[in-house]
Amino acid sequence: MKTTPATQVPEAPVVELQDVTKTYPGGVHALRSVDLVVEAGELLAIVGPSGSGKSTMLNIIGTLDRPTSGTVRIAGHRVTGLSDSQLSALRARHVGFVFQHFHLAPGRDAVDNVADGLLYTGAGRKERRTRARAALERVRLGHRLDHRPHELSGGEKQRVAIARAIVGEPRLLLADEPTGALDTASGEIVMELLHGLNATGTTVCVITHDNDIADSLPRRVRFRDGAVVSGSRAREVAG
Ligand code: ADP
Repeated sequence: MKTTPATQVPEAPVVELQDVTKTYPGGVHALRSVDLVVEAGELLAIVGPSGSGKSTMLNIIGTLDRPTSGTVRIAGHRVTGLSDSQLSALRARHVGFVFQHFHLAPGRDAVDNVADGLLYTGAGRKERRTRARAALERVRLGHRLDHRPHELSGGEKQRVAIARAIVGEPRLLLADEPTGALDTASGEIVMELLHGLNATGTTVCVITHDNDIADSLPRRVRFRDGAVVSGSRAREVAG
């Protein structure tokens, strides 16, 4: 059993939102008093129809945007009060992103695309490329290292994007409609990979409008009209 020295505080939740609201200019209430706790090691879906506030949530959890009010803690760090550069550092260290349309750099091979995920760590090019190759092996693309995006299938591109997201070993992987641009078989491979990464310790949060994908995950946080309607704490959905 893992022991915790008496002086060590218990591991903070990876995500902790308290009474978070987001109101866009023009008075759109995109998030209304959202509470959410995601513990280390979880695999969950944030699910809801278009316009329910999922992208806004992704931006706030990923520290790409700030809430209008409420408290956001990521890996135990309170986001309010951090400068933009402190926020970038927090994000680079703790959060990996995967997007529906991959966002790979055209004309650069898979290794360089993944190595870019380490640009903010201070690691030299050789080390970045070595770690990138290892990350590509983890997503089973060891045979595609020197392929550029236009030489890869959609599913392979998404696996490169996943490798880029995890190469820095973030605590949290945020995947925004990761299978939305893929055929069913490629989508299944991507979901299997996300399950595998979660099994080896990464906390994974999938943002989706797709109920089938949400239902395939151990926890669902359901959104409607900017509010969480169920699943704000893991124990609510136990059993
Ligand atoms: P989802 O990702 O579930 O489709 P969003 O978070 O994109 O939902 O949007 C939630 C609400 O906020 C919608 O009514 C949307 O029109 C509005 N919204 C999103 N982004 C902006 C913005 N930058 N400015 C104004 N309104 C926005």
